Amino acid sequence: MRNTPSSQFDVVVTGGGIAGSTAAILLARAGASVAVVERTAVFRDRVRGEWLAPWGAAEVRRLGLGEVFERAGAHSLPWNVSRSGRPRYQATPEGDVPLTFSHPRVQEELLAEARSAGATVIRPALVEAVAPRQHGHGPSVTIQRQGRREVLRASLVVGADGRSSLARKVAGLAEHTHRSSRMLAGVLLGNVGGPGDRSHFLIRPRGEGLTMIYPRGDGYARGYVFLPDATEADFRGPDGFAFFMEAARASGIPEDVLEHVTQEGPLAGFVADDSWVDHPYRDGLALVGDAAGVSDPTWGMGMSLALLDARTLAEAWIAEGAVEPAGHHYAEQRDRYYRTVRTVENWQSDLLFSPGEEADQRRLRAARGWSQDPTRFPDLNGRGPDLETSEAAYRRFLGLDDVALRYAGEPVTA
Ligand SMILES: Cc1cc2nc3c(=O)[nH]c(=O)nc-3n(C[C@H](O)[C@H](O)[C@H](O)COP(=O)(O)OP(=O)(O)OC[C@H]3O[C@@H](n4cnc5c(N)ncnc54)[C@H](O)[C@@H]3O)c2cc1C
Repeated sequence: MRNTPSSQFDVVVTGGGIAGSTAAILLARAGASVAVVERTAVFRDRVRGEWLAPWGAAEVRRLGLGEVFERAGAHSLPWNVSRSGRPRYQATPEGDVPLTFSHPRVQEELLAEARSAGATVIRPALVEAVAPRQHGHGPSVTIQRQGRREVLRASLVVGADGRSSLARKVAGLAEHTHRSSRMLAGVLLGNVGGPGDRSHFLIRPRGEGLTMIYPRGDGYARGYVFLPDATEADFRGPDGFAFFMEAARASGIPEDVLEHVTQEGPLAGFVADDSWVDHPYRDGLALVGDAAGVSDPTWGMGMSLALLDARTLAEAWIAEGAVEPAGHHYAEQRDRYYRTVRTVENWQSDLLFSPGEEADQRRLRAARGWSQDPTRFPDLNGRGPDLETSEAAYRRFLGLDDVALRYAGEPVTA
């Protein structure tokens, strides 16, 4: 590496997705010299999240990124239709409603905003190696662009390189997985009918599947289905889309919504697992977004968490004025709020998607409780990390007084 050219920054961010670009914007606005390394020349549809929960929309407002999301064509989607068929208004206590958008467009706009805020955007360039601080040498990132290798040195490296994070691998932190054994298949849809201001989130009554449709306000909608017995192969090949549509109809999506629907992008399957590291900071290397912890996409919390990670890390950097305490402060906060979100997601998945008679009884009892007192259902979309995850909250959710707490945020590898 002796002859490899090197440059020095306060912060190097690996990955220019929502987490990385937002962190770069906030740290550059705070006066840090920041470089962001992104491997793609253009962002493409990877079948990722396009529905931002109300509490994530509140993050956008808090971060002053509303105009950036508007430039990317973000669309308000305040109403949701579930099993009851009645549209329900979704919002935070402050009135923020869900947003939908093209994920690649938001990525482009956020990265452009990072550049405007003063960050150096290095693109296309591949991060080949990440090294935490060791033997008195600061953390570093080795990249390759246009066939040449370079080393970027920094006080802080932010690993924001997504679900298959290289930064996570080299960090050497304790990793956990909670397996759901559920597979979601998603696709971009065109010509979706029905009102453009409402999503559909239809769980079949006995836990036999789910369909979600999120109109983007630009003639397209993101659709996802889950069927307990389906495999990735069912959604592949020339019959894959027909299989998807059949599942959507069986969930009860109204025919006026589906009648003229067309496939407008790849149809891809994802296992709905959680996987995360404890305390996502070590020796000058902080992990944010999916690199720190992937959240089950069924509940659509990943982008909101990515935005919150960026804010928490930047605020810690500003408040602490030194990398080490800032990194540890961020990691403690991240552990806490990710655990809250994951716990409530697992309560809901366990109740709503378990098969069998006993599970049917549990669902009935819980639903009775929610209709008597809607506050029994944890408002994950509106309150996210501010929710309570105590045993009392779990019992209120299930409508039972004698049940032991499950999923108190502990790692479960089943
Ligand atoms: C099917 C599905 C549906 C989802 N639905 C929702 C939803 O409705 N709502 C929601 O909030 N969340 C949803 N999510 C989750 C959400 O998409 C993610 O949590 C979020 O996109 C994570 O952003 P990120 O920036 O951490 O990672 P990414 O978006 O993966 O960004 C990582 C970036 O790093 C770059 N990169 C990776 N490796 C390298 C390298 N070696 N060198 C240089 N660059 C590199 C990549 O090109 C990429 O741009 C869904 C996820 C899936 C899979």
